[in-house]
Amino acid sequence: MLSKLIVEPGKSARLAERDPADQLGLGSKEEAEPRRLELLSELFALQDRLWAEARRSVLLVLQGMDTSGKDGTIRHVFTGLNPAAVADAAFKVPVGAEVEHDYLWRVHAVCPSRGEIGIFNRSHYEDIVTVRARQLQPKAVWSRRYRHVREFERMLVDEGTTILKVFLHISKEEQRERLQARLDEPDKRWKFKLGDLDTRKLWPDFLDAYEEAITETSTKWAPWYVVPADHKWVRNVAVASLLVDTLRALGPRFPAPAEDLTGVQVVY
Ligand code: AMP
Ligand code: MG
Repeated sequence: MLSKLIVEPGKSARLAERDPADQLGLGSKEEAEPRRLELLSELFALQDRLWAEARRSVLLVLQGMDTSGKDGTIRHVFTGLNPAAVADAAFKVPVGAEVEHDYLWRVHAVCPSRGEIGIFNRSHYEDIVTVRARQLQPKAVWSRRYRHVREFERMLVDEGTTILKVFLHISKEEQRERLQARLDEPDKRWKFKLGDLDTRKLWPDFLDAYEEAITETSTKWAPWYVVPADHKWVRNVAVASLLVDTLRALGPRFPAPAEDLTGVQVVY
């Protein structure tokens, strides 16, 4: 299933050919739920070892259009993990000192420590995709960032971080329904911003910007995965699977004790 989601380095993202409503052969929502719970319990065991080992880290980068489910993914995939070993960061429009530095300054500062699983709810990709789609900077500025980002990520990987980049792929119609639900349901109204409607008008610009950014930055050391996200249950299982696969490949192990404990007993 997961080999279907990767954007092979050097190949195009082909977002238009990927179906946001794909169910990835997972059957029904009812069948997917036990699968998600199984994945979460494996994730818990792997996280425990990664944390104990304290040598390496994992970084999950979540990008997607408004309402694509970044927050929901975090809730459903990280439920039940040890919060002490999770580092969550959300990136908003840069302010204050963030604007006074290069765009990677605030990003690097919140990368996961050794042993942690980091989550980026939006990321340095805003500085390419959003900056381009909203025309906040000229092409000369955002286009050179592909190179910066590839090299920045390579440095993180060289130094012990495994990077998992996920684009939550929703359809324009699904976004319409989710935005409307934010207006209609009292518990969701707080999420609605009038500006989201202006952003929605830029849908094609954002899609083009994502298509190119994903294509340019899906590398051997930090590939992109495009997760179909019209169905929340598919999205949750897919992201949990990707994380489990990533951690399994790392194979973290409980470290040996630092001192020789042979024959040591707790006698008092
Ligand atoms: P939300 O994730 O709904 O809280 O919204 C955060 C907003 O901040 C989104 O509209 C993002 O596009 C915007 N944003 C985040 N990072 C940047 C950035 N580097 N440049 C411009 N806008 C950004
Ligand atoms: Mg929002």
